[in-house]
Amino acid sequence: MDLAVAAGKPHVVCIPYPAQGHINPMFRLAKILESKGFHITFVHSEYNHQRLIKSRGPKSVENLPDFRFETIPDGLPSPENDATQDIPSLCQSTSVNCLVPFRNLITKLNTSLTPSNVPPVTAIISDGVMSFSLQVAKELRIPGILLWTTSFCGFAAYLHYPHLIQRGLTPLKDETQLTNGYLDAPIDWIPGMRDIRLRDIPSFIRTTDPNDIMVNYLVGEVGRAYKASAIILNTFDIIENELLNAIKTHLPLPPIYTIGPLQLPHSPTPKNGLNSIGSSLWKEDPECLNWLDSKQPNSVVYVNFGSITVMTSQQLVEFAWGLANSKRTFLWVIRPDLVLGDSAVLPPDFATETKNRSLLASWCPQVRVLNHPSVGGFLTHSGWNSTIESVSAGVPMICWPFFAEQQTNCRYVCVHWGIGMEIDSNVRRDDVESLVTELMEGEKGKDMRMKAMDWKKKADQANAPGGSSCLNFVKMIEVLRSSKF
Ligand code: UDP
Repeated sequence: MDLAVAAGKPHVVCIPYPAQGHINPMFRLAKILESKGFHITFVHSEYNHQRLIKSRGPKSVENLPDFRFETIPDGLPSPENDATQDIPSLCQSTSVNCLVPFRNLITKLNTSLTPSNVPPVTAIISDGVMSFSLQVAKELRIPGILLWTTSFCGFAAYLHYPHLIQRGLTPLKDETQLTNGYLDAPIDWIPGMRDIRLRDIPSFIRTTDPNDIMVNYLVGEVGRAYKASAIILNTFDIIENELLNAIKTHLPLPPIYTIGPLQLPHSPTPKNGLNSIGSSLWKEDPECLNWLDSKQPNSVVYVNFGSITVMTSQQLVEFAWGLANSKRTFLWVIRPDLVLGDSAVLPPDFATETKNRSLLASWCPQVRVLNHPSVGGFLTHSGWNSTIESVSAGVPMICWPFFAEQQTNCRYVCVHWGIGMEIDSNVRRDDVESLVTELMEGEKGKDMRMKAMDWKKKADQANAPGGSSCLNFVKMIEVLRSSKF
């Protein structure tokens, strides 16, 4: 008999990596699981827990009968002004400092110190890059599952970091290799990956340091992925089929469950209490949706670079003039910490020039914005959440990848899926203007919009009853309910 079920509800502890793009998909997954009868403990870092209270109020992290919040420290001093934490420091710190408090938390949850209606922990789902959790799952002999919040192409590329090192492709010999064409070398030996160059591999390999923090960290994390009970990805089969099949055949990975896109309707309407809890670390500007309501269908360019991307003030100015000169209507989200070392200052003429056709905000409800009929294109940094959210909404993209696997996502979006155009990292206003014009009114733009609508349909089908993501979700739940680990 299944002991977990015998003891009451199955209880899944969900622990995301403490950054926005990791919290959101884990939060959606946790909400869906709650609706399927699981008791959930959602573990935030202490820093993010405080930020959520500040941005959304205490209700956003209020405990519900079957959805409770806990915190552990991330090991770093809290930055001032609710800033985005430095990613390499956070990676280093979580991998060294989180195991002990996480183990203590699980012990606490399993003892009488917790309210009597909290059942014993029966499974752990952690972020793919918080794999220390597998140690705790092993000690308790319960399933330890990893949610990789990347695309599958990004994950597959990370899985090959050790091979890139063995082949001597990284670390780089010197900095000249960044600009002398070296990064254009084709990578034609990753099973199932076609038309990929070294520059499309997640950007951390662009280092000359043999002890690079991020490369070492990711090599460790992908190494431990082989030991998980299962791996979950927020993607859907048909969009990454060739690669999925090839990687599953070539690498001895545990079962892989592709259950995305996670925000689509196979997650039933959340109950009242669940609606008030949330995961946005910034305060959303509610005005964006009203403003979009007043615009024509497909007429607005939505510009947002996610939660981590930073740029120089010169790059900001190039984007600003490119958008202004395109003469299109746009909604531009400029995070308070988007511009490096300074607050964002836009040229005074820019405001005059774009007064009647622009809205600037500091954070928005992105999924609702992308699904608004007025939005016709997305200028994005190609983070995986933004990309899959855009795919789900049928919105074509202009891609300005910043770091990590955003370069890989950009390549797949532009070359394999035909729904995006890349903008040079050394952004110039003329390029922004011409790409925005092409996206919104050119022939290529029309073609991309059609293809984007087609991918949206396929994403919907994957999530519909009998679709691949829906079936994978059912199988994943079986693993979660299982006590044979
Ligand atoms: N997001 C949002 N409002 C914003 C900007 C971003 O809700 O104004 C959300 C977006 O919907 C996505 C996440 O934040 O779920 C960003 O994740 P992504 O992987 O795209 O990029 P990252 O922030 O990790 O670079």
